[in-house]
Amino acid sequence: MAHMIIDGKPCQAISGHTLEVRSPVDGKVFDHIPRSDARDIDLAVRAARAALNGAWGQLSATERGRLMLKLSQLVMTHAEALALLEAKDTGKPMTTARNDMVVLSRYFEFYGGAADKVHGEVIPFLNGYQVNLLREPLVVTAHIIPWNYPAQMMGRSIAPALAMGNAVVVKPAEDACLSCLRIAELALEAGFPAGALNIVSGIGEEAGAALANHPDINFISFTGSNEVGVLIQQAAAKHAVKCTLELGGKSPHLVFEDANLELAATTVVRGIIQNTGQTCTAGSRLLVQQSIHDRFVALVAEKFKQVRVGTPEMNLDCGPVVNPTQQQRVNRFIEQAKASGLPVLAQGQIDPGVPADGYYVMPTFFGAVPADHPLAHQEVFGPVLAAMPFQDEAHAIALANGTDYGLLAAVWTENGGRQQRVAKALKCGQVFVNSFGAGGGVELPFGGVKRSGHGREKGFLALEEMSTTKTVVHFHG
Ligand code: ADP
Repeated sequence: MAHMIIDGKPCQAISGHTLEVRSPVDGKVFDHIPRSDARDIDLAVRAARAALNGAWGQLSATERGRLMLKLSQLVMTHAEALALLEAKDTGKPMTTARNDMVVLSRYFEFYGGAADKVHGEVIPFLNGYQVNLLREPLVVTAHIIPWNYPAQMMGRSIAPALAMGNAVVVKPAEDACLSCLRIAELALEAGFPAGALNIVSGIGEEAGAALANHPDINFISFTGSNEVGVLIQQAAAKHAVKCTLELGGKSPHLVFEDANLELAATTVVRGIIQNTGQTCTAGSRLLVQQSIHDRFVALVAEKFKQVRVGTPEMNLDCGPVVNPTQQQRVNRFIEQAKASGLPVLAQGQIDPGVPADGYYVMPTFFGAVPADHPLAHQEVFGPVLAAMPFQDEAHAIALANGTDYGLLAAVWTENGGRQQRVAKALKCGQVFVNSFGAGGGVELPFGGVKRSGHGREKGFLALEEMSTTKTVVHFHG
C-alpha cells in the first residue's frame, strides 16, 4: 500500500479511505493509494507554510540546489525500479519509462544547478536613489499533475518551484501516481527538510479541488484537460493567486514539397505514437503540400503499418492507454471517423499476446480529413493521425492556426526564408524546424497560447513563473 508524505512523514488519508490502482496492462488491481480529502490537503498546506518559516526557509539558494542535485542522483540510482513502477502504472513501454526517469533526473539537475544563479537587478532611477529588484519565492505552490508522464511532469512542475525556495504541495493524478509518491520519499532521503515537499493522492474533484481552492496557497501549476483548467483558473481567481495552465493541443506538422521526406515521415510517425499518443504535444495533424501529398502520405503509411502495440515488457512502440475511459474515447474517435467516410491509410498491429482485459487501442492513420471534421480540431489523446493537403504557404499557415489550440508545431522545409516566415506566423508556444520535440527539452521554455493555456514551464522562464519580485527603493540623497 502506497503512502503520501506530509510534513516529512509517510501517512495515509485521515479518513482511512483508499483507491484501487489498476494496471492498464491487464486491468487488474495491483496496489492501493490513500484517498485524501480537504482535511489532508489542509495539513499539507500548513506543513508547507511551516517549512518556509523553519528549516527550508533558512537554506541558502546553494544549499537548496545541492539537495536537488542529490535528488537527481537518487533518481538515477533508483531509475530501473522507478521505471518499472511507472510502466506498470501507466502501461508505457519500458524504453519510454526509462527515458522518463532520465528526464526526471535532469529536471532536478538543471534546476538544482540554477537555484543560485537567478538574481535580482539594480535599476537606474533618479539621482539620490538606489533601486534594487529582489527576486523572491511565491511561497506555497500547488502542483496538480496529469497521468500521462507522472514522474516527468512532477519534476517539471516542482523543480523550478523548489529551486526558487517555494514549499510545494503536489496532487498527482489518481490514475497513475505511484512514481510521484516514490519521488517524494526519495526527496526525504536526499535530505529535504520536512514540509518542503508534500504530496497528497486522491480524486481530482475531491483532493485536487480542495488544493486548488485552499485559501493559503500562493500559486497553482496545472497540467491536464481544458475543462479542469477552467476550474483551476476560477479557483485561483477566488484568492487572486497566479496559475499556469498547460492544457491540450492539436499540434500540426507542415510538410512542404522541398522537405527531407524520409526524415519527416519517420519523425511524424514517432511524434504521434509516443506514449501511445497521450502527449499534449502529440503531432496529431499532418498538413502536406498538394504536390507531394500522395507520395508523402504513402511513405508515412508504410512506416505507420510497422507500429506495434504491446505490454511494457514487450517494449514495442505503444502500450495500452491509461484507463477504460481513455480507451473508449480513442475508439469513439476512430469509429466516428470511419463512419464519416474518412479513408484509413494505415493501422498498426496489436500484439496477439497482450492480456485481453488491458486497455489497448489500434493506432490509426486517416487521410483526406476536412478542416471542419472533429479529427482535424479536437484532441484525441491517442495514436490517431489526421492528414490533410494544403496548396501553398498561406494555406498551410491558415490550416495550422485553424484550431482553438496553440501548443507546438513543426515545419518541414529546406527553404530558409520559409522556415523563418512560417515559424513567425504560427500561433503556438514552440516551433520545431525539421525536427519535432514532444516531451524532453528541459532547457526549452514551453507552454501554450489560446486554449492550450498560459504561463511557461521548462528553461529559465519557469524560474520567473515560480517566483515574484520586490522593488526596493532607497533614498540616500
Ligand atoms: P484527464 O481528463 O486527462 O484525466 P484531468 O484534467 O481530469 O485530466 O486531470 C489532471 C489532473 O487534474 C489530475 O491530477 C486530476 O486529479 C486533477 N483534477 C481533476 N479534476 C479536478 C478538479 N475539479 N479540481 C482540481 N483538480 C482536478
